[in-house]
Parts: sequence; structure tokens; C-alpha cells
Amino acid sequence: MKIDYSELYEQLKDTDLAAWNDVLPERIAHGLRPERHGLLPQWEQALAALPVVDASLSHVELREDVRADGPPIEGLEKLLKQFHPWRKGPYHIHGTHIDTEWRSDWKWERVLPHIQPLEGRTILDVGCGNGYHCWRMAGEGAELVIGVDPSALFVCQFFAMKNFLHHPRAWVLPLGIEDVPETPGVFDTVFSMGVLYHRKSPVEHIEQLKSFLKPGGELVIETLVADGPEGYSLIPHGRYAKMRNVWFIPSVQTLELWMKRCGLKNIRTVDVNETSIDEQRSTDWMTFESLPDYLDPENPAKTIEGYPAPKRAVVIAGL
Ligand code: SAH
Repeated sequence: MKIDYSELYEQLKDTDLAAWNDVLPERIAHGLRPERHGLLPQWEQALAALPVVDASLSHVELREDVRADGPPIEGLEKLLKQFHPWRKGPYHIHGTHIDTEWRSDWKWERVLPHIQPLEGRTILDVGCGNGYHCWRMAGEGAELVIGVDPSALFVCQFFAMKNFLHHPRAWVLPLGIEDVPETPGVFDTVFSMGVLYHRKSPVEHIEQLKSFLKPGGELVIETLVADGPEGYSLIPHGRYAKMRNVWFIPSVQTLELWMKRCGLKNIRTVDVNETSIDEQRSTDWMTFESLPDYLDPENPAKTIEGYPAPKRAVVIAGL
């Protein structure tokens, strides 16, 4: 397997996204420039070492789960562990269970029942990680799923899974949201999950997400939230749950107001959920610290810094 987007460029040709082809190859090359990711050559070698699997010997499932069932592959676990740390999943590949840090399937269960059906839609997933939810979106019958994430490791994990899952119309591009070509009004559904609190300017983030939406399209924001009145955001003094890059954790009412001020319509919070240590934890596939280490050992309702423990909301709006 190789990192290769030539099939995507073909797919874009006859769509509203055709103009992306003028800029995408260069931006992708920039996203993968070697000086940014010292280990990229190693991950590329690991991709090249993945076995070619006869698609007729494999049964792929993307709707209920993300799995490719087929004869066990000798040494697969060792090959895939070269892409450590595996944060988003789980994946089941020919008998190997990639038990990721996150049960991302639980997030999807909180999101999916509330959104417009994805059948036939063109989708942008901003900050998609290794593309776990992109596969699930493809499983729902989306026409084209484009995930973007600046992490080259996560892009390599995506291609490692593409080697086994084969679905032709799900992609993860090595781009931050700031590198996504400005083509207003082209996506039916735009997702931003787990990204908003990492943005220094959350309102600008929402505006930018909105700019990608078609009239009648749907925006899905999933983020950390903090209890508090309308107008309140938790702004950590330094780290939050040991994360360095957390800026604004709004109350649900604040987030809804931000979205309203951006001109979004029919704004509704469909889920609020405290993250449990069953949903985010260290595993054999992500051996670093995880949520249990980020909480106050005396009082798991608090982070180690004394802030309220992680709580997340899903907010949906239309244009
Ligand atoms: N959407 C996934 C992953 C969330 S983790 C989920 O909900 O499970 C947040 C992701 O945002 C990380 O993978 C990180 O690499 C990515 N990210 C960081 N900076 C970004 C940027 N400027 N634009 C887009 N994504 C970014």
C-alpha cells in the first residue's frame, strides 16, 4: 500500500470539487513534507510491507462496525503496531483486533441517530484523526467522504486500513482546516468532532465550517463542554486533562449562541455525555497515558488540574 490520491483526483473531476485538483496535489505534498514528520519514511515502509489481500477472500463491514473478516494474516499485529499509537477505532482486520485508545464507535452511536441520513451525500470531516468515522460515514452510503487531519501518522493509519477495507470513496488528506481549499457551499454534511476546543478562535472555526456547507446542508459539532450559563467558557490557565492546546470549553448554551451568531439555523444539542474511563484508556495499541491518568485520583469528577472532568456534547445545525 502507498499513500496515493490519484483515484481521488479522478473522482473529483466531474464534481463541484473539480477545482480542488488545481491545488490539492501541492497541498498534500506540503502536508507530507519529510521535515515535518521524521518518521514518515518508516511508516511508508510499514505501509509497503502490508500484504495484498484478495478482496474475494475478505468480507468488509462498515455500517455496524469497521471490519475486514478473512483468513488470519501471519504477523499482521506486528506490522500494524508499527503505526503506534492507535488512538481512534476499534478496527477488526482478519482476526486482529486493533483495540484503540478510544471507543470511537461509542461517539458515532451518539451522533448517527440524530443526523440527516448520509446516503448519497458529500461529506467533509474536519480533524478526522485516522478516519475511523470516515469509514462509518462511507458505510452509511455517502457518495464521497473527505476527512482532513494534519497528522501524517494518522494518514498512514488510514491507508493501512484502506489496504484491507478497499472502499473507494473514503479519504483522509494530510491537511489542517486552514489548508482546505476555499470552495464555498460544496458539502452536504460537515463534521467537526473533537476539534473546536483546540482552536484559538472557535467562532472563526464555526464560520469556516459553515462556509463549506451547501444550502440545506448540515453541520455537526462534537466538542468538550463545561457546565455554566450562556456566555460562559472554561479557559484553562495551562493544561486541561494534560492537554496543552485547549483554549475554549464552552457551555452548551454558549456554543449554541456562537452557532446562532454565525447564522446557523435549527440549532439543537442532541447529546451530552461524560467521558468514561471505558471510552478512553490505554491499551496494547496505545501504551501512553490516557484518561485515567488525566483525572484526579482522589476525585475522578475533576481533572488532575482541578477542572471539571471531560464532558462532551453533540450539537447539530442547518444552513
Ligand atoms: N474527529 C476525531 C478525532 C478528534 S482528535 C474524533 O472525534 O474521534 C482531534 C484531531 O484534530 C487530531 O487528530 C488532530 O491531529 C486534528 N487537528 C489538529 N489541528 C488541526 C487543524 N488545524 N485542522 C484540522 N484538524 C486538526
